[in-house]
Amino acid sequence: TVRVRIAPSPTGNLHIGTARTAMFNWLYARRHGGKFVLRIEDTDKQRSRPEYTENILKGLEWLGLDYDEGPIYQSDRFDRHVEMVQLLLDRGLAYYCYTSAAELEQMRQEQAAKKQAPRYDNRHRNLTQAQRDQFAAQGRIPVIRFIIQEPREIVWTDLVRGKVTWNSRDLGGDMVIAKVDETGAISQALYNFAVVVDDLDMEISQVIRGEDHIANTAKQILLYEAFDRQPPEFGHTPLILNAQGAKISKRDGATSVDEFRAMGYVPEAFNNYMVLLGWSPADAKEIFSLDEAAQVFDFDRVNKAGARFDWDKLNWINSQYLHHMDIGDLCDRLVPVWQAAGYDLEQPGIDRDWLMALVEIIAPSLTRLNDAIQMTSFFFTSSLTYTDEAKGVLEPDEVRGILQDLLTELKAASTLDQESVNGILKSVTKAKGVKKGKAMRPLRAAITGDVHGPDLIPSLLLLAQRDVLVNRLAAAIA
Ligand code: GLU
Repeated sequence: TVRVRIAPSPTGNLHIGTARTAMFNWLYARRHGGKFVLRIEDTDKQRSRPEYTENILKGLEWLGLDYDEGPIYQSDRFDRHVEMVQLLLDRGLAYYCYTSAAELEQMRQEQAAKKQAPRYDNRHRNLTQAQRDQFAAQGRIPVIRFIIQEPREIVWTDLVRGKVTWNSRDLGGDMVIAKVDETGAISQALYNFAVVVDDLDMEISQVIRGEDHIANTAKQILLYEAFDRQPPEFGHTPLILNAQGAKISKRDGATSVDEFRAMGYVPEAFNNYMVLLGWSPADAKEIFSLDEAAQVFDFDRVNKAGARFDWDKLNWINSQYLHHMDIGDLCDRLVPVWQAAGYDLEQPGIDRDWLMALVEIIAPSLTRLNDAIQMTSFFFTSSLTYTDEAKGVLEPDEVRGILQDLLTELKAASTLDQESVNGILKSVTKAKGVKKGKAMRPLRAAITGDVHGPDLIPSLLLLAQRDVLVNRLAAAIA
């Protein structure tokens, strides 16, 4: 049975790369009727923070990437890690290394001078007990290293990349798997070690993670061997790159799922975009739900090359979702956005129906939810401001004359609807001997404060419903 996992370290907010890896795991689990496990890798006490864990959990929830087991906290498994480190020590596959920081630094400098890659030279691999006692007596605190035999080919069939071969010479020498405290007790198991113990105990069948973990996979395979256990399958997903082809970073606008949410992307669209970062369905469809993707997802269509982040595409996909969303649903999502912008939705004349009508007007122009903030500010404000362009439009006396007549007619009308407003516009412009367009632009400037914006007559009707239309028109020509 398929058991996959996502194993984020809570050392930062949920990153788009982690989210996409989570999504590939989720898709694979759903496709195969398997289980998706969440493990929080919080063993690095210095860098882990509960608020990051919180952020990761909330982010996964927002995306709808539900897990079947977890969250399991790696820190809770400390005793098990110690037990397994001890097992390797007992089997002579790991050892205490007393090399000091200064000695390691000197080693690095000598290697750099010889233009060699930095590596540990395994100098403490075969210490005698007497030597160890001597180092301990000097007050040195050891680490525990796992023996990496060299040379050795490490080969696996990657779900994404096919056959991958690593030489154990390129792994940097015997690797540190655990730290020890002043009392000589194991105080922390390091990532490459803990991850293997956990993936084994959780019976993970496929490890699907970012390409930046390829060298770790080679090391981890050696650990599986040391435990006499079959490694899981591995799949390394392409990195997310910026427009310049470098790994995406904060400077590219946004990297955490939170930031995308705050910008007004909806989770369905964000997921849809993330799947396409590195995968595409055989039918080349661009808009589909995660559930649809889960019917057909497989690694044979995951790219090996890095995936370039494309804002235009994300925006396009988001707009597709917003344009086709049920109006009530869209309204529910816009209310918190308006509230966060400080708009008072409790004003007289504003109710659910009025808001739905507003949403209907603006929906076709939305790319992100947050576009609604600027687009609708004139509906909510009690003190309209005019752009310079709008002021210019309202300046000529002729224009003011037209608006005055419109005001008089609008005030006098018994009912206002699309038809009656059109009629008023027609009769006023006819009387003045001007084209209808000549009245529309000033009317828009007068009641919205801008020369661009949502459909004019429906907007006017919404303002009229709230009894602010007449005052606004009057103020504009006062
Ligand atoms: N904690 C590791 C990370 O966040 C997990 C990598 C893995 O999936 O093994 O990068």
